[in-house]
Amino acid sequence: MAKKGLLFCVCLGTCPSFKETDEYEVLNAIRKEKLVDWVGIHPQLCADDGDVYLKTLLKGADVEKLFVAGCDPHMQKKMFKDAFKEAGFNPDNHIGIEIRNMKTKDVIEKIKKELAAV
Ligand code: SF4
Repeated sequence: MAKKGLLFCVCLGTCPSFKETDEYEVLNAIRKEKLVDWVGIHPQLCADDGDVYLKTLLKGADVEKLFVAGCDPHMQKKMFKDAFKEAGFNPDNHIGIEIRNMKTKDVIEKIKKELAAV
């Protein structure tokens, strides 16, 4: 069965926009409720090794939807498009979730809402 995954991109872990968010608490809340099949965390998906990570993760994988919590979804689409193309992953199955400048509990609620909407 095709899988749903959630990645948290932490923007190096130093970005002030994420200072009120505990990424591990967010991912634990989502996985404990089994709202996705797997979760992951990456420090900078828009860097070269982020491309490598996405390609390695997605190439030939049975991923129905990839949710990425991080920066603006439109920015994500632009930054990840080459990696998705090279991995043969349909970019329409990527759902970016903007979670900058939010507290942990609000991030969890926003991600839950996005997961429920697809
Ligand atoms: S993909 Fe977005 S959230 Fe991740 S490091 Fe780049 S700008 Fe930051």
